[in-house]
Amino acid sequence: MNTTNYDIVILGGGCAGMQLMYQFIHHAQYKGESILILDADKTYLQSKSWCFWHTNDVHPYQSIFNTTWNNLTIGFPNEMHESVIHPYRYSFIKSEAFFDFHFDEIKHNPSVVYSNDAVLSIDKDANQFIIHTNKGIVTTPALYSSFWNQQQVSKETNLFLKQQFYGWEIHTEKPVFNASSATLMDFTIEQTQGVNFAYVLPYSAQHALIEITGFCSKDYSIEFFESVLKKYIESNWHCSYRIIKTEQANIPMTNFAFKRFTNEGAIAIGTAAGMVKPTTGYAFNRITRDSILLANHFFNKEIPAEFTHTRFKFYDRLLLQLLKFSPAKALHILMQLFRRVSYKHVLRFLDEDSSLFQEALLFAKLPKKDFLKQVFKHGNNS
Ligand SMILES: Cc1cc2nc3c(=O)[nH]c(=O)nc-3n(C[C@H](O)[C@H](O)[C@H](O)COP(=O)(O)OP(=O)(O)OC[C@H]3O[C@@H](n4cnc5c(N)ncnc54)[C@H](O)[C@@H]3O)c2cc1C
Repeated sequence: MNTTNYDIVILGGGCAGMQLMYQFIHHAQYKGESILILDADKTYLQSKSWCFWHTNDVHPYQSIFNTTWNNLTIGFPNEMHESVIHPYRYSFIKSEAFFDFHFDEIKHNPSVVYSNDAVLSIDKDANQFIIHTNKGIVTTPALYSSFWNQQQVSKETNLFLKQQFYGWEIHTEKPVFNASSATLMDFTIEQTQGVNFAYVLPYSAQHALIEITGFCSKDYSIEFFESVLKKYIESNWHCSYRIIKTEQANIPMTNFAFKRFTNEGAIAIGTAAGMVKPTTGYAFNRITRDSILLANHFFNKEIPAEFTHTRFKFYDRLLLQLLKFSPAKALHILMQLFRRVSYKHVLRFLDEDSSLFQEALLFAKLPKKDFLKQVFKHGNNS
């Protein structure tokens, strides 16, 4: 069997694998190190809409932003509340544009190879990783991995919920959407199991992505999603429409302690490294930040540190417990959060960029009793 050596191997060419490759090849210290990306599952073929908030600073993916909104809307019973989110903006990238952008980078860089060979096993000796694929053996001193096992994670924690969503990109016969604002959470839809809300990304007055989302440990059926989605579109916009695309997904919401290193000793990236914020499902920006950090470590010959337990993990756990054991209270807290705290402060808190003082001000506006009860009731359950 032939053996090939690469300076860097990345397992998984998804959101995290591609972003990491991009940070390596655009790093000031990059000198043409060879990089292999291995991805047998071709998940990139599944269309996704990635959204995130960011400040006005230059963003690495600005050139492929599809739409950017300055305002966000939250839907409360009897009121849709729209607000400017300055200094943030909310942007949307189509996964097709994201992958075209990265495959173009690969095409123009002869040191980067993308392969659909399947990984069979991974060994390690004193100097390198030995990766057995269906086509041969690959060796590397630097291995990054976005592979993870959802079944194993869900077995090892008692707090495993899913953010499930189902939506349609639609084109309406007449202009009906307010294209100046994306609706982050519209809680006016029927609440069944878990916490449910609608999410609306209006690309223009006649074109939008509308999704129904549920935070829950049980699975929702497609029939449930379709019926709520149809009702939501009919009751809000009363017009006929054409479905262009369907989007459906399942994002883990868990307090599982993802580790910086995999069992084989590779550096975990993306979902496998816990980059999905457990209580929101957002990961894109966290992956960007982590990729920048990991590329810096590599070129400075530093070993990344193991993750530490932060106060944000504690807050996430409290909200996950509420979502799992008392969804009605979790819904109440989420609504109070957006009603009483300005959206920019909520976004900063969700980005884990707030100070302890700012968090104290934010918590002071929430129903404390529900949170405190959670601490005492399930405090030792994680
Ligand atoms: C539909 C959807 C919409 C989302 N929207 C947002 C959003 O708007 N904003 C946001 O911040 N986050 C969002 N997320 C969450 C998060 O950004 C994504 O899940 C992101 O893709 C995670 O990156 P990743 O690289 O860890 O996983 P992926 O992008 O899924 O990439 C993993 C790659 O590894 C490959 N792979 C995995 N296991 C194996 C294996 N055993 N063998 C071979 N290949 C393998 C897969 O083929 C895949 O290409 C969304 C997630 C989904 C599913």
